[in-house]
Amino acid sequence: MRPARLITRLFPAFMLVTLLALGAALLYAEHAVRVFHENQTALELEAELQLLHEAAQARLGDEATLQSFLVESGRRADTRYTLIAPDGRVLADSQEDPARMENHAMRPEVRAARAGQIPARATRFSATRLETLLYTATLIGTNGDARPVLRAARPIKGLNTALRALEWHMFAVAVLIFALAALASYWLARRIARPLQALRATAEQYAAGDLTQRPPLSDIEEVAALAEAMKTMARQIDERIQLLSRARAESEAVLASMVEGVLAVNNAEAVIRLNRATAALLGVTPEQSVGRDLREVVRHPMLQDFILAALAGDQPSEKDMLLYAPDERHVTAHGTALRDAAGTRLGALVVLNDVTRIRRLENIQREFVANVSHELKTPITAIQGFVETLLGSDAHRPEDVRRFLEIVSRHTERLNSIIEDLLSLSRIEQEESGTLERADADLHALVDAAIPLCRAHFSGKDIAIENRCPEPMPARVNARLIEQALVNLLDNAVKFSPAGRLIVIEGARNGGGWKISVRDQGCGIAAEHLPRLFERFYRVDKARSRQSGGTGLGLAIVKHIVVAHGGSVGAESRLGQGSTFWLQLPA
Ligand code: ADP
Repeated sequence: MRPARLITRLFPAFMLVTLLALGAALLYAEHAVRVFHENQTALELEAELQLLHEAAQARLGDEATLQSFLVESGRRADTRYTLIAPDGRVLADSQEDPARMENHAMRPEVRAARAGQIPARATRFSATRLETLLYTATLIGTNGDARPVLRAARPIKGLNTALRALEWHMFAVAVLIFALAALASYWLARRIARPLQALRATAEQYAAGDLTQRPPLSDIEEVAALAEAMKTMARQIDERIQLLSRARAESEAVLASMVEGVLAVNNAEAVIRLNRATAALLGVTPEQSVGRDLREVVRHPMLQDFILAALAGDQPSEKDMLLYAPDERHVTAHGTALRDAAGTRLGALVVLNDVTRIRRLENIQREFVANVSHELKTPITAIQGFVETLLGSDAHRPEDVRRFLEIVSRHTERLNSIIEDLLSLSRIEQEESGTLERADADLHALVDAAIPLCRAHFSGKDIAIENRCPEPMPARVNARLIEQALVNLLDNAVKFSPAGRLIVIEGARNGGGWKISVRDQGCGIAAEHLPRLFERFYRVDKARSRQSGGTGLGLAIVKHIVVAHGGSVGAESRLGQGSTFWLQLPA
């Protein structure tokens, strides 16, 4: 059934009940009035009969006198009187000619009177008068069974007319009552419906998400209880929503802060969760990805297959793979089935570990070992060759023996310096990983100290070194390491400068720290080598570097030292026009 408004249900029902009640009241009132009126008339007639009784009895036997007596009495009382002989013959009648009247023995009121009923009444249609009359009858006389019956009758037409008038009155009053009842019913129906409508409005606001609304107060107990229940419900829902959104925010925060990429897919192969780390790895955004098909979000066939396998399988799985776009990343993927607390399978969860850095470090390590082995092998092979030559024969000229031994000695020195450099690199690395020991120092003084330690003083090359650093240059550094870095730079500058040139060391404030540059007028370096100069074992001209005793580790050591101080290094150079190497130390 289609639901209708409460008022359209209540109002007609009220009106129907009012109508029925009014109708019943009207019918009953009419009936009661009629009965009362008839009774009253009958009593009047009976009283009249009582009055006539004696006189009529006195005139019994003389029908002519009787007739005129009844006519006279009837005219005065406006009543019809009839005297009926015991055999039913009409002896006299106030309104008719008794001779023409039929036998009245069987008239109900006559029979009742004869049977001794008191009162003996009847309301019926009179065949003589052709209208409905109310009759009462009584026995008169004293002659045992032969007593005549005196009857009085009055038409009830007058009663009916009076009743009709009364009915119209009552009907008018009923219409008035009905109208008033209609107004009252409408008011009542609205009074019941209005708080329910207000509750409905509040419930609709709850449904729209506004749980701050309070339901309206009501003086109807049931409605007030409903409003209270709604209020409690809204509060509980609000608490639950807050709890859920807090839990959600927490889990979002956990996921967002994870370094590992997390990706969850449901059984329909759609992405249900994806954190920032995964989004960065896949080159998508979490907002665009959630809810979309796995294949639209994950463009890497290998990863796609892995996730689909995790969705299909029950066992945790692991796989290393290379993602090409948007960047080249080495990734280790772990896949497991995703289940809820009840153990129902919801999909699969994949965790992606970005192992690019580890892979790169592993590569560097591998290359380093290969380089070291190679670097060590060259002098060792040379030493081995000359020692074997010396051992192979006794017939060497003393000057050859001397020359061979000198070569062996040079290679031993080289081995030594490579090992020295490797050791200092590893020392610096260790200090880097721990906390670097620092003290207040003057960089100008450190430059002064480094100059006499550099090879210009051993090589005997005619090269001038000038310290143009401002004085003082206070800094908090590890003096021993900074000194070593400066010596390495000066060594290179001397090594790659022809005799008679100048090397200048300058210092300047830079961003709160100091920038120290070592400028030479040497051979310079081609631009393509500049980016790789600070790599271990990187040399522009291998043969020349080796000849000059270079290990290819000098600049790597400089970089390590400066980076350990939180600074940076760089080089600018033009082939044939000298080079400038600088190091920047932070404040
Ligand atoms: P090496 O022990 O061979 O000098 P470094 O790491 O100190 O190793 O230097 C790496 C390379 O950079 C050198 O082999 C050389 O080719 C180049 N280099 C370094 N300093 C200079 C400079 N001042 N002038 C020209 N080339 C330089």
